[in-house]
Amino acid sequence: MEHLDEELKEVSCPECIRCGWCCKQTVCYYGEWDYQKWQCKFLTDDNLCSKYDEIVRYESQLGLDPGLFGSGCCLNFMNPYRVKIMLESQQGGRCEENEANG
Ligand code: SF4
Ligand code: SF4
Repeated sequence: MEHLDEELKEVSCPECIRCGWCCKQTVCYYGEWDYQKWQCKFLTDDNLCSKYDEIVRYESQLGLDPGLFGSGCCLNFMNPYRVKIMLESQQGGRCEENEANG
C-alpha cells in the first residue's frame, strides 16, 4: 500500500503513436464532441490535440502527475489505426515522431 502512489505513476501503457483513434471514440475531460466529423472538435487533421498547451499548463498549475498526456496509449487493444501505423513502421514507414495525445 505504501508504494501505491509510486506504482500509479509508472507508465504501464505502450507509447502513444499519434494515431488519433482515442479522440475519435470519445472525448476526454477537456474535449467536445463534433457530431459532423464524429470526433473531438479539438483533434487536428494530423491527430494532435489543439488544446495541448492549454491542458498541460492547466494541469501543471493543479500539480497533476501524471496528467492527461504522457502516460501512454489508453486504447492500444484492437485499435485498427494504431495497428496500421505500427505495421507501416515495421515496413519502413512512419512512426518517427512520437509526440502526441497519449
Ligand atoms: S486530448 Fe484533446 S483532442 Fe483528444 S479528446 Fe481531449 S481535448 Fe479532444
Ligand atoms: S493514445 Fe493511443 S489511441 Fe490515442 S492517439 Fe495515442 S496511440 Fe492513438
